[in-house]
Amino acid sequence: MNNDIKSVLYSEEAIREMTTKLGKQITEDYKDKKPLVVCILTGAVLFMTDLVREIDTYLEMDFMDVSSYGDGTVSTGDVKIIKDLDKSVKGRDVLIVEDIIDTGKTLQRITEILSMREANSIKVCTLFDKPARRTEGDIKADYVGFEVPNEFIVGYGLDYAGVYRNLPYVGVLKPEVYENN
Ligand code: 5GP
Ligand code: MG
Ligand code: MG
Repeated sequence: MNNDIKSVLYSEEAIREMTTKLGKQITEDYKDKKPLVVCILTGAVLFMTDLVREIDTYLEMDFMDVSSYGDGTVSTGDVKIIKDLDKSVKGRDVLIVEDIIDTGKTLQRITEILSMREANSIKVCTLFDKPARRTEGDIKADYVGFEVPNEFIVGYGLDYAGVYRNLPYVGVLKPEVYENN
């Protein structure tokens, strides 16, 4: 699997340092609240579990799965809920944890749903952001780890065709991996 990677963009250590930094900011901003931290499955799972360990405040965790991508690398724009939250967001301070914001369609839809359910506040923490690819102009994250170049990245939760999520770092695949698909 490691042989399929052309180059490493974010090392395990760089990701760890950034996660600690984001956790400190979030701790400061939520110190008098009890946020509901919502992980968007499956991509954000690795980031979520590392991030919450860097947040020193009372919080609850919940999980939501939405899909817009299928197995390819281009968004279909059609976002559906595969698994809904278990907890009510009404009156809660919600912190959405995402792996990456690309077009912004996924997040647009999720924030719409959660504000309809009357969350008290909704903020977004994403490890990666591709602002150059945004089609939903008003969608932005409150906490951003790294702004990434316009390339398809894999690892640390991010998949291609369902695999590579377990790489501890984030990188770019060799072109032949796509050609052989
Ligand atoms: P959006 O709805 O913002 O276009 O896409 C968000 C979702 O698309 C992410 O949560 C992620 O699952 C997927 N995605 C976007 N860019 C990339 C990328 O560079 N690599 C991978 N593996 N997934 C991506
Ligand atoms: Mg995602
Ligand atoms: Mg995916």
